[in-house]
Amino acid sequence: MSNQKAKLIIFTGPSGVGKGTILTDFFKKVDKNIVYSISSTTRHPRDGEINGMHYFFITKNEFENLIKEDAFLEYANYSGNYYGTSKKFVEEKLSENKSVLLEIELQGALQVMKKCPDAVTIFIKPPTFEELEQRLRGRHSESEEAIQKRLTAAREEIKNADKFHYVIENDIVESAVNKLIEIYDKETK
Ligand code: 5GP
Repeated sequence: MSNQKAKLIIFTGPSGVGKGTILTDFFKKVDKNIVYSISSTTRHPRDGEINGMHYFFITKNEFENLIKEDAFLEYANYSGNYYGTSKKFVEEKLSENKSVLLEIELQGALQVMKKCPDAVTIFIKPPTFEELEQRLRGRHSESEEAIQKRLTAAREEIKNADKFHYVIENDIVESAVNKLIEIYDKETK
């Protein structure tokens, strides 16, 4: 049995800031007492995304049925699609004394902060807004309209960074990952 204090960790930051890259590296380096919560979404998979690994890709109808069944700890409509966190998964893992990391956008993060005041909250911000725009455009996966929606959401998200316990600037990925590991160790050990 580990002595770890299992925590719910909210990891939020604007689309394009590099959350995915940081988390891939983070999960390679940390112990096995923390798990990533795979969200459900109605967005279409991007090239290379795998159902059940990156997301559970479901229809709007399926998502709305899950809302009715109260299956989500939180959910949000972001940029025209639904995204949500499974309540059952989070509760099960915490009861097994595992920490759970939620990679979610701002509206969902605010819902979880209200419901779970003990959650550790981390906001990841870009060095500059211009850099974020470049990264979003560099992905070549979205239409101009979708990019504009994401940039509008990003402005709103960055304004709310001070609601989080920790703010990490993603300037150099390696140092952002190290900061995340430090926070995880401090909060759970
Ligand atoms: P993307 O479409 O780029 O994968 O995700 C768009 C945004 O939705 C990102 O900021 C991502 O962190 C967020 N997101 C992913 N899963 C969830 C979720 O379950 N709930 C909420 N509220 N946001 C999510």
